[in-house]
Amino acid sequence: MSRASCLLLCGILALSAGHTRVLGQTDNAEQGVLQSLADRRESSWQTAQKIWQAAEPGYQETVSSELLADAAAAAGLTVRRQVAEIPTAFIAEFGSGHPVIGILGEYDALPGLSQQAEPERLARPGEHNWGHACGHHLFGTASLSAAIAVAEQIRSGKLAGTIRFYGCPAEEGGSGKVFMVQAGLFNDCDAVLHWHPGSRNAAGDRSSLARIAVKFQFEGRTAHAASAPHLGRSALDAVELTAHASELMREHTPENTRIHHVITSGGDAPNVVPPFAEIYYYIRHPEGRFLKPLYERLELCARAGALATETQLKVRYEGGIREILPNSVLTGVVRRRLQSQNDLQWTEAEQKFAARIQQTLDTKDGLEALRQVDDVDNTIGKGSTDVGDISWVVPTTGFTTVCWVPGTPAHSWQAVAAGGMSIGEKGMHLAARTLALTAVDLFRSPDVLQQAVAELKQRLGTEKYESLMRPGQKPPLDYRNPPKAGVPASP
Ligand SMILES: [Zn+2]
Repeated sequence: MSRASCLLLCGILALSAGHTRVLGQTDNAEQGVLQSLADRRESSWQTAQKIWQAAEPGYQETVSSELLADAAAAAGLTVRRQVAEIPTAFIAEFGSGHPVIGILGEYDALPGLSQQAEPERLARPGEHNWGHACGHHLFGTASLSAAIAVAEQIRSGKLAGTIRFYGCPAEEGGSGKVFMVQAGLFNDCDAVLHWHPGSRNAAGDRSSLARIAVKFQFEGRTAHAASAPHLGRSALDAVELTAHASELMREHTPENTRIHHVITSGGDAPNVVPPFAEIYYYIRHPEGRFLKPLYERLELCARAGALATETQLKVRYEGGIREILPNSVLTGVVRRRLQSQNDLQWTEAEQKFAARIQQTLDTKDGLEALRQVDDVDNTIGKGSTDVGDISWVVPTTGFTTVCWVPGTPAHSWQAVAAGGMSIGEKGMHLAARTLALTAVDLFRSPDVLQQAVAELKQRLGTEKYESLMRPGQKPPLDYRNPPKAGVPASP
């Protein structure tokens, strides 16, 4: 259906959702979740800080996933560990029957971003080079806290149905949720909620970019680079040609395409012709259906690099994720809850911390951002998330809260710093309350859930969910490991 007719329908649905009998009323279940979250606030923050300290790579979040799964089990939720053939993926649930309301949690960190919870660039002591620059320590913990708070209301008979927390690893490039979708873990779910730490509070029908990740590895032939260069075949040359070809290709791609790469291996010494090199790409577009043909063209660039340098190409297709399909009906519910719960205020010490962080930022947004909830309807975020694939099979909505100093970009040391102190904690607590109260609304509003499903069907139209994974593709559990040449080392 056209975007205009979809917007019209969504508007009608959102309005009718607003008239639902139980939304916005204060009752025992609402008081119950708020009390539960207040009681657990200190222990939740301790858990988040431990995950922040652990700062583990995607698919290697052993400590982080155990902390959350153990907390869920201790709170009486039934925990299924190692789901979807992923050691660090798990599900924790409570209750029985429908509705089944899912809340997503993430907990992977990013490389090169070790940082203390200080308002200046200070790496943590030691070798550890990872940091929670996307705030997933807050994401996972707030979501689990909300799920536990709702579970307590089901246990006490104030709500009926199932609350389910999804422990989702490797969001940053590992596409963990896509494998969880393919394992059927969302098949019986009625609605899915998520959130994300940010530098503003926001809700709305916001989409994201679909993305494919690929590593091109080249095997060449080593030789002395000065005395016998004619005997060598440089894998690094192949990487450089691939990068040049993709830069030229960029001009001839559909509007809003994004292509970016890093060279993860390029040889060890100038006097040795590199026998192995690797280049790692992301390629993105607002519509996943454009990505497959774009990817085929990118692979041609790598083939050209190998052909011209007489090296061997090995393609490690790490898979793809779809764009988010927003859901206006669910967004309407979450927006009201976020607006009514937003009480963010910073102490003098926090404001001083923020002022020092802002000295290091190009964009100095004012602190009035704390009091606002921005409307991001009909926008497309320029990042990608594997939440996208879930949103094609279950009505899904999310929001952001201020966990970083306004103006802070994601994936920066400033995000790690604020997320490791009370600014992050306050945003996390706001998110937990918003998630839990939205879930209470959904448990009590079967008509809203039905409307959300109807909207998903309308948005899909004749299109069916199609994953960007290859048939039978397994989770790339080693995608964060340093690249290794496929040839055995000399004895
Ligand atoms: Zn993130």
